[in-house]
Amino acid sequence: MNDKNLAEDIRHQKLVFLYAELPKGIFASLILGILLVLALEGDVPAQNLYIWYGLMIVASTMRLFTVFLFKREKEQKANLSWYTNVLIVGIVISALLWASSSFYIYPSQSEHQLLLLFCIAGLSAGATGSTAYLYRVYALFVWIMVIPFIIVLAMEGGKDSFLMAFALILYLLIVSVTAWNTSRNFEQTLLLRYKNLSLIEDLELKAKEAEEASAAKSMFLSTMSHEIRTPLNAIMGYISLLKKEEKDEQKREKLAVINQSSNLLLGVINDILDFSKITSGNLQLEHSPCDLGKELEKLASLFKPLCSQKNITLSIFIDPTLPACIETDLLRLTQILNNLFSNAIKFTPEGKEIEFRAEYKRPNIYLEVSDRGIGISQDKQKVIFESFQQADSSTTREYGGTGLGLAISSRLAMLFGGELKVISVKGEGSTFFFTIRAKICAELQEAKEEVLEEVRFSAEDILVADDNKTNQTLMKLMLEEMNLRVRLANDGQEAFGLYDKRYALVLMDINMPRMNGIEAMQKIKSRYPEATIIALTANALNDEKEEYLSYGFDDYLSKPVQADTLTTLLKKYISV
Ligand code: ADP
Repeated sequence: MNDKNLAEDIRHQKLVFLYAELPKGIFASLILGILLVLALEGDVPAQNLYIWYGLMIVASTMRLFTVFLFKREKEQKANLSWYTNVLIVGIVISALLWASSSFYIYPSQSEHQLLLLFCIAGLSAGATGSTAYLYRVYALFVWIMVIPFIIVLAMEGGKDSFLMAFALILYLLIVSVTAWNTSRNFEQTLLLRYKNLSLIEDLELKAKEAEEASAAKSMFLSTMSHEIRTPLNAIMGYISLLKKEEKDEQKREKLAVINQSSNLLLGVINDILDFSKITSGNLQLEHSPCDLGKELEKLASLFKPLCSQKNITLSIFIDPTLPACIETDLLRLTQILNNLFSNAIKFTPEGKEIEFRAEYKRPNIYLEVSDRGIGISQDKQKVIFESFQQADSSTTREYGGTGLGLAISSRLAMLFGGELKVISVKGEGSTFFFTIRAKICAELQEAKEEVLEEVRFSAEDILVADDNKTNQTLMKLMLEEMNLRVRLANDGQEAFGLYDKRYALVLMDINMPRMNGIEAMQKIKSRYPEATIIALTANALNDEKEEYLSYGFDDYLSKPVQADTLTTLLKKYISV
């Protein structure tokens, strides 16, 4: 709200209050008037009294009519000046009528004079509360009413009259000051009220803008993710097919490099998406029972080859008292530890040591990765947990990285109820540590280790619906390698038309022209409720799996499709 509008609004509010208070003043005036007429009968000519009170009734009726007009009018703001003037004229007329009492119906008896004085003093005192919102109006009313009375008293002569006039002057000054203060306080209250209102308006606007920006960011990330994952799906899929076919060792090595780079690219995309999910509160941990000690041992051992490449000694300590069954989100815990291990290896020179410790500190599990690497200076130890921050700009040049790993890890650690911390001395090494709560579970079913290589299913028919030709062909090749027969559909409508009981399973892309995957799945299921349909999508922003299952899909597979994940999933529905 600008200053002009604000001043206008304050004026309007004052007028609203004044008009609301006006009837009380008018009725008080009429009641005091009739009391006065009754009291002064006999002392003052009756004709004067009746004319005076008649005029008072006419003036009051007109003023009440203006109140009625004001209340009914919707465009009060547009006619602000008119209503202010009407109000002032009404008040001046009323004040003049009372002023006229000091000569037109002025009583001769002193007790009647006192009664008149009492009425005028009462009316001016009563008006401080009501008309003082607009000080000008109050001043007009009171001064016009009281000053003639003071003059009359002063002219009368005599000690008593003189003292009464003096008392009236004092009284006038006191009520004027009180009204002035009331008016100022009222104005300030209104000003504060408007400032609060405009602050609330601003805040609401900012919150809306932030919400829109966040929605736009999520949308952008979702689209980008889809657009990057779709070609990446083809790249990674074809690499894994080629790797199986290629016998030439040199070519296999080149393929391995392409594969590694694709994995790195996928890692960066996943990091960005994870970070976005965490900051928007969309990431939730999914706990399930596991033998944590064993899993941690396995995880740490995976880094042994990398360490030996750099001639780094990796020592692993897993507390033997760790409970055999712990409920945790192993995937996310692995994500944190992977990041800490990769950093430790990355920032530790050849020939030094790295240590991993997992201790059971009831009721928590303490996890620590420490290295004798380059270390981090004191002032940088805080910023490295912020997104896209590295301890040193030369880090990117020398070691690469996005600066997202620790930001994600520390937020994930918070989701586990802990806090990722670091103790480090530049040039000597760093220790990253955090705790997670140990939710002990009753008993763990021994999971059989599965070898997924070269699985051959019994020949079954699979329907693949995808509008992207490259991905279609890739899925066909991958599935045919597993001895499955594949039929391709270019969109949801075609899939719906093609589907019959012959198909053991449908792999259904989501974003497709003509009919999307969700609609096609629902149509197929309404005709064939026993159909097994798996969502296949390159969107990976929200907790999609839950979302797709809630639509009615039997399972969910995210692109890029990894051969192992595909095999594991198919084994759930098709016999080998
Ligand atoms: P990235 O490794 O992708 O740069 P991170 O968020 O994992 O991102 O790490 C942020 C920064 O913290 C790194 O760039 C590095 O400067 C510093 N850092 C992390 N771990 C270590 C470590 N073990 N030793 C020394 N510096 C480290």
